[in-house]
Amino acid sequence: MRSLSLPLQGLGAVLSACLSGINDSDLHARVTSVIPVLDAAAENYKLKAAIAELHLIPRVTTVGLVSKDELVALYADHLSATRGAARDFYDKIKSAAPFAKCPLCGVGRVAVLDHHLPKRRYPDLTVLPSNLVPACHACNDTKGVRFPRTAGEQTLHPYFDNDLISTRWMKGIVQHGEPVVVEFVADPPSPMTPVNLERVRRHIRVCGLDLTFAANAVDELDTLKMRLTELGAKGGADAVREYLLDRAKDFVDRPNSWQLSLYEALAADDWFVEGGYASIA
Ligand SMILES: [Zn+2]
Repeated sequence: MRSLSLPLQGLGAVLSACLSGINDSDLHARVTSVIPVLDAAAENYKLKAAIAELHLIPRVTTVGLVSKDELVALYADHLSATRGAARDFYDKIKSAAPFAKCPLCGVGRVAVLDHHLPKRRYPDLTVLPSNLVPACHACNDTKGVRFPRTAGEQTLHPYFDNDLISTRWMKGIVQHGEPVVVEFVADPPSPMTPVNLERVRRHIRVCGLDLTFAANAVDELDTLKMRLTELGAKGGADAVREYLLDRAKDFVDRPNSWQLSLYEALAADDWFVEGGYASIA
């Protein structure tokens, strides 16, 4: 999970660019007629997102004289289409993710823009920049048409949930066995409101962070085995623990990353540092 700054691109500029690509004069006139409605929806989105109440945004099926399919097509034909009239906006919003890392999982490569509130449920938000989040294919696919019915069902929003994203809640748990595996769960070290805890658990489940992180951990453990065996032979458990804590330090600015959770969990586990690393597959 990573926070992102709100896109600099405003709804008005994106809508103008989309409209410039519409050749059908009737559709052009109808979309123009609902601009005030889209503006109002954008304002409501901004207010609700700021207080984590996007679940209260009403779902709509039409917007004035414009149908859901036409608003979805406005996005598909003019914003996301490679040669769409507003494609520059799509590319700029997409490229705002540092290192092209998906802000939803922190692991995948950004490939698309994800509608935080899905376009088929909220057609009045199809081209709203603050509802468009850079994402990897996996996160985009799994979010799909899901939408929050309650406050706790809201997945984390990279533009608005900086406090929650920068609060520690991910934890690694070392499972002693042959082979050793590490599981990842939401277990905040400091108290969190029930709604926030439900939100991070929902985010983990929807974006599959537990599975992705566990797979990355297996790969990382494989690269560690020889080093830890050498360190253990020379300096015992203390040397192994010191090395793992040192690795964890590299990731302290990514509080819910798999790396920080993994290294801290391994360092804190007596069984692992006292020789459990021999059970790495
Ligand atoms: Zn992702």
